[in-house]
Amino acid sequence: MQPMLLLNPVFKQRIWGGDQLKAKFGYEIPGDDTGECWAVSAHPNGDCTVKEGIYEGATLSELWEKHPELFGNPREDRFPLLVKIIDAKDDLSIQVHPDDAYAKEHENGSLGKTECWYILDCTEDATLVAGHNAGSREELSDMIHQGRWTELIREIPIKKGDFIQIDPGTVHAIKGGLMILETQQNSDITYRVYDYDRLTDGKPRELHVAQSIDVITVPAPTAQESVKDALNLPENKMNELISCDYYTVWKLDVEGSFSFEQSHPFLIMSVIGGEGSINARTIKKGDHFILPAGFGSVEMQGKMQLIASCAK
Ligand code: ZN
Repeated sequence: MQPMLLLNPVFKQRIWGGDQLKAKFGYEIPGDDTGECWAVSAHPNGDCTVKEGIYEGATLSELWEKHPELFGNPREDRFPLLVKIIDAKDDLSIQVHPDDAYAKEHENGSLGKTECWYILDCTEDATLVAGHNAGSREELSDMIHQGRWTELIREIPIKKGDFIQIDPGTVHAIKGGLMILETQQNSDITYRVYDYDRLTDGKPRELHVAQSIDVITVPAPTAQESVKDALNLPENKMNELISCDYYTVWKLDVEGSFSFEQSHPFLIMSVIGGEGSINARTIKKGDHFILPAGFGSVEMQGKMQLIASCAK
């Protein structure tokens, strides 16, 4: 039987970051401007290491390369997903990601990016940006060039436990006061649409206006189509939140005991609340791990909430 791979997160300081990753998750953070916890990542900018057991100290990218059997002998040359927790004290810039086809043609063969967010915590009247109000590409272009941001940008109210899929072409932004768990394709092609006219070191950050107008989906799907309430789903069940071309994501609320067979090439799990055990090993809020291929039967006990994902 293969062991569970418990990972050490990598932390990133950001101008918009805060101290909630320590306050709410108990992590040792590098400063009170810590914006991101890269919880399950094999990205060169933050490659997680295994915390314990026979693979202790190995990076996830190393395991992917040298022990493909742990991941069901994948064809891809790199670990396909990236799971992060984001603590936004201030607003992030408004962005859009291209799809695979556009990125391949315009970004040196890169992949596009699809991502999704589970709202871990937020302030009472929190919002996020998802979508826009332009009716045609021409109107979109006019609104961007004329700086009619409040008219263009669609801000939607959000609460703890909401889940939102951000497909390529979706104008989106995390607003201050949000703590989210993000599951995404392991890629980083981002076009910045608008940065609230802020200055960094005296200068505005670069915007990618032409690319943004090319890739933004017009018209945008409605807010109701985008947001799903995932707070109180049936207990002891893998509740599917989304299944797209790149990943499937589930919410699992364990209450007492729950068992299942690990039948995916590999399964990523993040404990987002509570505590318990998995095959007799204690786990708690803030732990992130991978159940590899061949892990076999999974016995969970306790009272805890998890977000799980697997790659397609
Ligand atoms: Zn994004």
